[in-house]
Amino acid sequence: MRDNNCIFCKIAAGEIPSKTIYEDDKFRVILDLGPATKGHALILPKNHYANLYELPEDTAGDVMKLAKKMATVMTEKLGCQGFNLMQNNGETAGQTVFHFHMHLIPRYENDGQEINWKLGSPTQEELEEIKNLITEN
Ligand code: AMP
Ligand code: ZN
Repeated sequence: MRDNNCIFCKIAAGEIPSKTIYEDDKFRVILDLGPATKGHALILPKNHYANLYELPEDTAGDVMKLAKKMATVMTEKLGCQGFNLMQNNGETAGQTVFHFHMHLIPRYENDGQEINWKLGSPTQEELEEIKNLITEN
C-alpha cells in the first residue's frame, strides 16, 4: 500500500535517504528535517495512510507502542527533560505531509519552543451540550 506521489512513502521505503534512527518491517523512524528541538523525529508507517482516520486500529496501537519505546531511548540518549508526542490530521490542524506520521519531540529546559493553545472558558451548559453531541447515538 503506497502512493507513488508521496514523499514519506519514498522515505519509508528507503528510496529517498533519511537519517533513520529505527526501522522494522512496519515502520521507519527518521529525524525531522525542520526540527522543533534537537532530536525531533517522525514515526512513519511503511504503508501509506493519509491520516489517523485511515490508519487501521492495530497499526494505531503499534504506533503508540513504538512511540513509547522511542521516547524512552531518546530521553536516555539525548538527556532531554520532557517529551511531546504530536500528530496532525488535516490542513486545518497543521498537517503538511499527507502520510500519517507521529512527531517525537524531545523537550529541554529553556529550549525556546512552545506547543501551546489558548485556553477556552466554556460554561457548564456548553460543556454539557458538547458532551451530548459526542456521546449521543
Ligand atoms: P506535519 O506538519 O505534521 O504534516 O509535519 C510534517 C513534518 O515533516 C514537518 O515537521 C517537516 O519538517 C517534516 N518534513 C517534511 N519533509 C521532510 C523530509 N523530506 N524529511 C524529514 N522531515 C520532513
Ligand atoms: Zn505515503
